[in-house]
Amino acid sequence: MRMGKLWSAGLAVLLAVGGSAWAQSGATKTAAAKSGNGELQVYFVDVEGGQSTLFVMPTGESLLVDTGNPDPRNPSAPRDAGRIAAMAKIAGVTRIDNLVITHYHTDHVGGLPQLAALIPVGRFIDHGVNRQTEGAEGKATVAVYDAYQKVLADSHADHLTVKPGDVLPVKGMHVEVVSGDGEVIGQPLKSALAAGGGPNAACANSPVKEAENSENDRSLGMVITFGKTRILDLGDLTWAKERGLMCPVNKIGKFDVYIVSHHGLDRSGSPALVDAIAPRVAIMDNGPHKGGAPSTYVTIEGTSRLKDLWQLHTAEVPDAKNAADSRIANLPGPDAANYLKLTVRMDGTLAVTNSRTGETVEYPAK
Ligand SMILES: [Zn+2]
Repeated sequence: MRMGKLWSAGLAVLLAVGGSAWAQSGATKTAAAKSGNGELQVYFVDVEGGQSTLFVMPTGESLLVDTGNPDPRNPSAPRDAGRIAAMAKIAGVTRIDNLVITHYHTDHVGGLPQLAALIPVGRFIDHGVNRQTEGAEGKATVAVYDAYQKVLADSHADHLTVKPGDVLPVKGMHVEVVSGDGEVIGQPLKSALAAGGGPNAACANSPVKEAENSENDRSLGMVITFGKTRILDLGDLTWAKERGLMCPVNKIGKFDVYIVSHHGLDRSGSPALVDAIAPRVAIMDNGPHKGGAPSTYVTIEGTSRLKDLWQLHTAEVPDAKNAADSRIANLPGPDAANYLKLTVRMDGTLAVTNSRTGETVEYPAK
């Protein structure tokens, strides 16, 4: 009787925490990625103008932001999911411990079903239900959202819905949610003032734009802190929503690294945001013909502390402006899916590696 009780209790736990059982076996496997020197590694996967950014913490714990596009033409060898899985292998991780879906557009969550078939996911994190259902984009959004829901239903992984003000349950870095489901934090972050927040002079000269009423407005945005280094990733959060975060008071402070919002499209990345966060390094996940707007380039290059803007692709849009070739992972021509890698040390030193050239540029701590 006693043994039976123990057995059934054990079974109940096993059934209830199937995801955690995965987590424990995965944690052992991902130990290979553990960085003995306490560095955070961030890999910017080329998903051709979508987003997929892989963080590997010194503990070996991984966090992937978004999954790129679906590839219906090559179901057995999907382009973006294949690139992300290959990136994970290079990074030494055999499992995505945390997968953040910023919003439900095809270039962010579309690659998920194919990726989930290639590598296990421990925990899914998102902003809640999809609210964009109208028109052609709404139809596409519903389709990829439904495909995500099917992956969730078939998975034993944990699922977490977060809102502005929440802190993600990861141990190797501090991740605060500052936007989600169309809302932004009401009060400045505790760290914001120390990090150069407060009244934002850039608001006066930053044009006002209407919200899109799309999933972009509802992007889950994160402030990531590792040691002395602050990284901002707002997904595709729109120009109008940035204003709620930045005006009249900069609620998030200055940043060392800006993961350029919305692939560098001019529907995001207002001066009110970019001037005030004053990044030292900006990294843009653009495609040749997606994002990389000339006005975005001008805004970023005009900020006060910028050392370098890095790009996944040379922008080939009309009147394009680009960083020097050495700062670009993929030049015009046949696409080699080169990536960028950011290394963050505990003392605040940054390094960016271009996989095309093998060159690493170091940025000393402030
Ligand atoms: Zn996007």
